[in-house]
Amino acid sequence: MDASSKRSFDPRSWDHTFELISWWDAESVRKAKVIVVGAGALGNEVLKNLALLNVGHILVIDFDTIEYSNLSRSILFRPSDCVEGTEAKFKADVAAERVKEINPNVHIRSIVGKIPGDVGLGVFRHADVIIGCLDNRLARLFINRLAYKIGATWVDGGIQNLAGQVTVYRPGESCYECSLGSTDREFIQFQLGCPDIARASVELGRVPTTPLAASIIGALQVTEALKVVLGNDDKLLVGERAYYEGMNNDYFRFKTTPMKSECLSHFTYDPIIEADEMTADLTVEDALDLLEARFNDPAVCIELDQELITEITTRQTEKTYDVIVSKASFGKKMIERYQIQSNEGIVITGEVRELTKTFKHLGLSLLEVGIPRLHIIKVRANGETHFVELSGDEPPFGTPQPQNEHAINKP
Ligand SMILES: [Zn+2]
Repeated sequence: MDASSKRSFDPRSWDHTFELISWWDAESVRKAKVIVVGAGALGNEVLKNLALLNVGHILVIDFDTIEYSNLSRSILFRPSDCVEGTEAKFKADVAAERVKEINPNVHIRSIVGKIPGDVGLGVFRHADVIIGCLDNRLARLFINRLAYKIGATWVDGGIQNLAGQVTVYRPGESCYECSLGSTDREFIQFQLGCPDIARASVELGRVPTTPLAASIIGALQVTEALKVVLGNDDKLLVGERAYYEGMNNDYFRFKTTPMKSECLSHFTYDPIIEADEMTADLTVEDALDLLEARFNDPAVCIELDQELITEITTRQTEKTYDVIVSKASFGKKMIERYQIQSNEGIVITGEVRELTKTFKHLGLSLLEVGIPRLHIIKVRANGETHFVELSGDEPPFGTPQPQNEHAINKP
């Protein structure tokens, strides 16, 4: 390309056409912060739409790598992205690159990781709306619970063959977990207790999808997300589900299950304390010291979201290993990592549910014990539970915060 063929465009001309729409508010869309969880078939369509609409700030989260079989439903991926082994490319990273190519005005970041363990709760607090582009119930349940904790609205979408559905969940008004039947609930509880089975059942539960359903449902999801951004709350699909089926040209809406009084999702972190002096890079010891100073309680402790396994022992040879792994990641991989004979099996002989000054590995960072950046940790002090955000970590959108003078071990 010679220099004369390069043209610079006025960024404001991108959404000029949309400004002719009476209800459009270009400024709000440019300022919008949207999180997209999942960069598969739906995620691709959703991200493409957000880019075209000039949505200003996007964070895309996905743990998976691109495979050749993804290409038939992924407008953002190319055959050259399908690389095997250590060179494999992550969906979130490539999707973010392609969004930038489509519309350089968009600020997009990617996180390669899983929900909820790899992404701090505070990350989601910074968004106006979360769009779930997920392919299994367990992941939806995680998003629902985290969104409820921080009072966030999330747009759920699902596709199968030529069909799909969209719903908006808003804490206090509608809830994904309440919509689950008793069999679904029991199965999910079972999956939560057995990570290996959860992974296997997600694989087994995969359904055939088409780019046709993905574009229609992805467009509906972004339409709902736009309503959140533009404040058209009364038009949202809250408490309702839109269903589309292409073969018979069916499109209809129906009421979702009303909120139940007993539901594990209904838990809100309030108030959330923004602790600028705290980051996930702090050692457990430094974090406890800072919390002790903040709450003036020497017996302060951090309640973990789930058990942290600290020791395993082989069943037959009774060999003991010091480990640091969350219960969610526990399973077959542990056997492989420690080269334990698979017929021998292992038992957990050490686990902690909270971090106190008696924790064996006080020198490890919060990150190393499984607390992600910008997480909101549960702190017990003076007989009460407090919700403390690691606000010293870099925010997911916009320019990084100025360094806090109290921050310790900041990279
Ligand atoms: Zn519920």
